[in-house]
Amino acid sequence: MKLSEDEVQVLDVLRRFVETEVKPLAMEIDKTKSVPEKIISRMRELGLFASYIPTEYGGAGLSFTFLVNAIEILSSACASTALVLDGAETLFAEPIMMFGSHELKQKYLTQVAEGAVGGLAITEPGAGSDAASIRTTATRKGEVYVINGTKTFITNGRISKFFVFDAVTDSTKGHRGITTFVIDTGTPGFHISRDIEKMGIRGSSTVELVFENAEVPASNIVGKENEGFKVIMETLDAGRVGIAAQAVGIAKSALDEAIAYARERKQFGQPITEFQGIQFMIADMATQLEAARLLTYAAAEAWEERKDSVRLSSMAKMFASDVAMKVTVEAQQLFGGYGYTTDFDAERHVRDAKITQIYEGTNQIQRVIIARETLRRL
Ligand SMILES: Cc1cc2nc3c(=O)[nH]c(=O)nc-3n(C[C@H](O)[C@H](O)[C@H](O)COP(=O)(O)OP(=O)(O)OC[C@H]3O[C@@H](n4cnc5c(N)ncnc54)[C@H](O)[C@@H]3O)c2cc1C
Repeated sequence: MKLSEDEVQVLDVLRRFVETEVKPLAMEIDKTKSVPEKIISRMRELGLFASYIPTEYGGAGLSFTFLVNAIEILSSACASTALVLDGAETLFAEPIMMFGSHELKQKYLTQVAEGAVGGLAITEPGAGSDAASIRTTATRKGEVYVINGTKTFITNGRISKFFVFDAVTDSTKGHRGITTFVIDTGTPGFHISRDIEKMGIRGSSTVELVFENAEVPASNIVGKENEGFKVIMETLDAGRVGIAAQAVGIAKSALDEAIAYARERKQFGQPITEFQGIQFMIADMATQLEAARLLTYAAAEAWEERKDSVRLSSMAKMFASDVAMKVTVEAQQLFGGYGYTTDFDAERHVRDAKITQIYEGTNQIQRVIIARETLRRL
């Protein structure tokens, strides 16, 4: 879908904000391991959290393609900052937008539109790629469900006001016995048990969550009882396009910065961009990045039209994240020894790119999905 004039204008404002206010802080965000509240407040002021929320729930009703652009632009400066928005919109709001009751939408989407951050908690210590093997349980007791279990690697953990999560409601039915709920931070029996230290996206809060007899109202089911696996899978279809956009943004900055450096850096009496060996590296990086971007926006369009979106979102996530890894490593190489120091952003881009190959389904799992969807079409 093409962007509307309004969307183009908002993205221009976002680019200026990112260039002048986010990029200068990116190294500090990485070092201090948190995105400053002043940046999140500015994102609220700019209407970013409201952008993708439907107008009837206080949002601006902008398109998914707009959101994907916004994630790419934010990621080009700071992948951790982009995750604040990405988590709130594609991971928390999207499942409620798709499957939530009017009451849930009224209660939670309006808060996201006002700038509250959320997260999605699926992964458990024993259940990663095999998301159907979760052990967290939800047992009905009158008008509430009693939740017990542990979720790990949860993005936006420290800054989220609420989480969408899944739990087993019927242990005899495998993935057809899973239900998706919303829980508020501060619910008795629900707490963060630890912060997880990471290689990259260090400004993004990643935590382990524990449920110990935490009670969630039955009305907080997203969709229907025992139909939660579908909610999670469809949410990830949208989420993977967001990760692809994140990968494109990281790779773009890595390439732009490497080119700027290579133009200035002189060896053997000339800028290193004069060497054909360097030019060929740049040509390969630029081509891969362009291909990743085109596939990402094709996947965004497919998601908007709900046409072949499972296959395309997995392809975009896998391809763009593999490209991000290749481009960031090659970009670091163009900086020579300086790329290995923390004086430049090149090493941060490599560390930030790596996670895009892992979360929201590793790239091995994306290949499983792509093969399945491709074979199904023939
Ligand atoms: C920083 C970070 C943030 C995250 N944020 C969130 C979040 O917000 N919410 C959330 O729910 N989760 C989140 N995750 C979890 C993430 O989605 C999982 O780590 C990921 O899905 C892989 O699961 P796992 O780590 O258990 O690896 P495993 O599933 O144990 O996989 C180990 C290895 O085996 C491979 N493998 C597994 N199955 C197959 C197969 N069938 N074929 C081939 N290879 C296979 C994998 O590709 C991987 O290489 C996050 C993780 C990290 C590190």
